[in-house]
Amino acid sequence: MSIPEYILEWDRNDSLAQKKNEFYLPPGKRYFDGNSLGAMPKLAAEQVQQTLTQEWGVDLIDSWNKHQWIDLPQKVGEKIARLIGASAGQVIAADSTSVNLFKVLAAALQLNSGRHKVLSQSDNFPTDLYMVQGLSALLGDDRCELIDVPEADIETHLNEDIAVLMLTHVNFRSGKIHDMQRLTELAQAKGIIVIWDLAHSAGAVPIALDDCHVDFAVGCGYKFLNGGPGAPSFVYVAKRHQANLQQPLTGWMGHATPFSFDKNYQPAPGIDQLLCGTPSILSMRALDAALNVFDSVEILSVREKSKRQTQLIIDSVQSVDELKELSIVSPIDAEQRASQVALAHESAFAITQCLIDQGFVVDFREPNIIRIGVTPLYLSYEDVFRFVTALTAIMREKLYLKSKYAIRQKVT
Ligand SMILES: *Cc1c(COP(=O)(O)O)cnc(C)c1O
Repeated sequence: MSIPEYILEWDRNDSLAQKKNEFYLPPGKRYFDGNSLGAMPKLAAEQVQQTLTQEWGVDLIDSWNKHQWIDLPQKVGEKIARLIGASAGQVIAADSTSVNLFKVLAAALQLNSGRHKVLSQSDNFPTDLYMVQGLSALLGDDRCELIDVPEADIETHLNEDIAVLMLTHVNFRSGKIHDMQRLTELAQAKGIIVIWDLAHSAGAVPIALDDCHVDFAVGCGYKFLNGGPGAPSFVYVAKRHQANLQQPLTGWMGHATPFSFDKNYQPAPGIDQLLCGTPSILSMRALDAALNVFDSVEILSVREKSKRQTQLIIDSVQSVDELKELSIVSPIDAEQRASQVALAHESAFAITQCLIDQGFVVDFREPNIIRIGVTPLYLSYEDVFRFVTALTAIMREKLYLKSKYAIRQKVT
């Protein structure tokens, strides 16, 4: 296949081109699923190996001090803080996104205790809605009630009845980006506390939590941050809320003095009170090392490359005849689109399986969406061009109709 000169030129001028070498990328695969599980940074593998053989294997329990295991949640939190526009002392790595949502939802409701409604978007990632439902079952409908509305109705629902606005910055299906600044401002003007889920934005798009005066945020370590399967999540609590916070999962690691083994809970000051139990050190180590990939990287250059790469896909779907039967679910306007392209088709599942079979790893989301995640740190323009070419051939020759592409597994 011949690659057009302009594509080769873009790759030659790409300041992120060398980043690819910092990842382990299996031969024969081009990976368009970094929005679901980021590829493995070589440093993460080396660090985990070292933690296994030396720290766990030899130094054993001494490692909590000797290798600062105990400080990893804060250390990792500060590395993430730089990527999401948070100044020091407001971000910590712990637990999963779902669990962190539970903590900040409960805390936010407590801070706004005259109200009890949590406003969210009906097509939010389900776990976000489930966590509100679970809290509601625990506290009762009169202390926590989920109001979920279509995206278009969010603004008109921002009124003095709402306690908390909980939104995901980037929609997991469409990749559409919310205007964080505007929505936070509108909500806070009505006395609403704002929680942002950054699962699909941290490490992919610029975020300015402090500048947007956000109250709380959570996000994933294993998507664009490349921290590995089930990597710890992170949680942000604005400084101004930390003194009066009531975090409901009052585990000993969030205690002011865990090793005094006091029988009464006393929260640690600052962001440390967001911890619950013992951190999973192997995962923390992987995430800690994975974040070093971002050391010399400006999120703005990641964003610029990502916009160009997703545009290449969008432009092709709009202009190539064989691709016209795919409908574009993501925003056409690059400014509103994060680092993925969602295409709808009635045979979406089979098309994703056929692409994977050809070495282009994408994923399928119910009911009919092909999700193409773009990670500029390890995908070149040539990779994207080859993806579009493969998709064109698959659609032209209807290769996805083979029966083997209809078989579904447990995880899609
Ligand atoms: C991926 C994702 C999650 C995942 O939550 P876990 O508890 O880490 O499994 C949560 N929310 C959103 C919006 C996501 O995209």
